[in-house]
Amino acid sequence: MSPLVAKCSICRRVRDDGGIEVGQGTWGDLRNYLIKYDLRPIDVDFSHTDCPECAQAYRNALLYRTPQSRAVSSDAS
Ligand SMILES: [Zn+2]
Repeated sequence: MSPLVAKCSICRRVRDDGGIEVGQGTWGDLRNYLIKYDLRPIDVDFSHTDCPECAQAYRNALLYRTPQSRAVSSDAS
């Protein structure tokens, strides 16, 4: 069975859920992940998602692109 690894589709980091609750792992470099668990790239299946940082950045990017937010000169955030 190939382990299913959550992989960020934007920054390409993977989530290491090893030993803890799924979804609570830390995001890191794929190469380090493979070394840690002694895996080859073909040994794992990827579940493409966005890591919290990229999801937030993506939301911010969308926010700044909307005409409404451009019109407001002093945003509260
Ligand atoms: Zn990311």
